[in-house]
Amino acid sequence: MEIAEGVHLLGATKGSYVFLVRTSEPVLIDTGFRGRADRILAEIAAIGMRPRDIAHITLTHHDVDHVGNAHALADATGARVWASSEDGPFIRGDVRPTGLRGLMRGVVPVVPTSVDQFYEIGGSVGGLEVLATPGHTLGHVSLRYGDILFAGDLVTSRGGRLAPSPRVLTADRAALRRSLREVGKLPFRLVCPAHGEPIARGSLWEALVGRA
Ligand SMILES: [Zn+2]
Repeated sequence: MEIAEGVHLLGATKGSYVFLVRTSEPVLIDTGFRGRADRILAEIAAIGMRPRDIAHITLTHHDVDHVGNAHALADATGARVWASSEDGPFIRGDVRPTGLRGLMRGVVPVVPTSVDQFYEIGGSVGGLEVLATPGHTLGHVSLRYGDILFAGDLVTSRGGRLAPSPRVLTADRAALRRSLREVGKLPFRLVCPAHGEPIARGSLWEALVGRA
């Protein structure tokens, strides 16, 4: 579904959304739960693009529901895979998460993915601005394109509201609060979380910050 000009929400990834932004260097944002690579590629084809047209695969963080198809999609597209320097080692499989995230990895094994490049915070990947938004994980990033914020798991949307990253999965709550405050200073109109539907910002962000 094209939610803004050149910005596609890939419906096959409902549950942990993947977005495709069609800039001069097309960008995939996250890769969803494992086992959906074929459906993602079918949706890319339905948009009228070939796998090789994808220039960048950007990972907001290392959780299993975001990196699930990274390996398969990197293979199919030849795209450059981006991650933060903090989360990259988990994505490459060099480091195993502990606690609840370690248990999740046990239940949902992930194919390690080579990370081609670490983000430069404040820099741009395929025309998208990279924002450091630590909290959910220590290296979580969000991406901004025009007036759209791709929030990863910084926030979720449900029932017309925004909620912060769930506490049980928040690695650093103080960092999360700071991230929400800092991002809130930026102009954007539409919020696209991985979990929940895209939602107009309105005054929802302000209501959110105190709840983290
Ligand atoms: Zn997630």
